[in-house]
Amino acid sequence: MQIFAWHRVVPDFDRMVRRVIPGLLTSTETFERQLAWLRENYEVVSLDEALEALAGGRRGERDLCVLTFDDGYLDFAEHAAPVLRRLGLPALVYVTSGVADSGLPLLHDRLYHLLRLALRRRIEAREGEVEPRVELALRRTLALRDPIVGLEWILKTQPRRVALQVAKWLERRLGERPEAALADSRLLGWEDLRGLDRELFSVGAHTVDHACLPNESPAEVERQLVESKREIEAQLGREVAHFAYPNGWYSPSVVRAVEKAGYRSATTTEDLPNHVGISPYRLRRRCVWEYASRGLWGFSLAVHACNFDGTLRSLGLSPWVSGERPDGLGDARPPQDSPAGETQTALSRA
Ligand SMILES: [Zn+2]
Repeated sequence: MQIFAWHRVVPDFDRMVRRVIPGLLTSTETFERQLAWLRENYEVVSLDEALEALAGGRRGERDLCVLTFDDGYLDFAEHAAPVLRRLGLPALVYVTSGVADSGLPLLHDRLYHLLRLALRRRIEAREGEVEPRVELALRRTLALRDPIVGLEWILKTQPRRVALQVAKWLERRLGERPEAALADSRLLGWEDLRGLDRELFSVGAHTVDHACLPNESPAEVERQLVESKREIEAQLGREVAHFAYPNGWYSPSVVRAVEKAGYRSATTTEDLPNHVGISPYRLRRRCVWEYASRGLWGFSLAVHACNFDGTLRSLGLSPWVSGERPDGLGDARPPQDSPAGETQTALSRA
């Protein structure tokens, strides 16, 4: 059983790829061809049906696959849902409860936007302007001279509190508004989520603010898991049973916290198939985007099939990366400097 993960589906890929995190994007045209191929080669089911099969309670003629979408971008409703509806394919959207209707972009989009500007304008961090940990993160991120590498480093190593301080410092220095990145990265609001066809689309949680949980304190991990489930259930009036680890990162104590918070499953971004008996709290997913199906001259069935069917991985040409992180990385200090309403986090894994 294979779970696939997209982030964004956009009609103007060539314009957007120069403005937002490239690895999150798939063009509507390629997305349609990806789904047509999946419908031909797999039985596309909901995650609940797939979990039943993994527990040995269901058999299928063909291999099963599940379609998921991360982060709750508005382009899911505008560009992905119409294609899914036309093909009659179920899908699960993982959303962050603290972002919908907040008027702010996800922190990863905000940071990516700011890092691109900062590198273009060659700004440097000045000594002692911010607390030492934020200054170190800032210097290191800027020194990497690549917005994606810088973003990945800060998300992988820093608690959200520090990543947010880096964003605020960059906004002060660049004269940018916190909502600037929203123009190209609009998010589903609660009204949009309530409007999604319940028969076909289900909604899962992705923390309150896309926090990379292994980097957070145990108290913050619990808050992110419990509050997001409660808020989404309150807003949508339906149970939220499924969770996705932001950036695909988890640790043994985070996995236990997800189960304790009452979720029935949690997905990583470890690029392997799922088999009977696998823990429902460490489900594997293949993240796909435009270039998972693009050859030299646009869509390539050969490239697509190799990536979607895991041929490259079985040949050892695209090794899977574990999302497991050690326990105890968590930030000792509680996130006291994040006033209410300022609830954003980030991602760069694609
Ligand atoms: Zn995410």
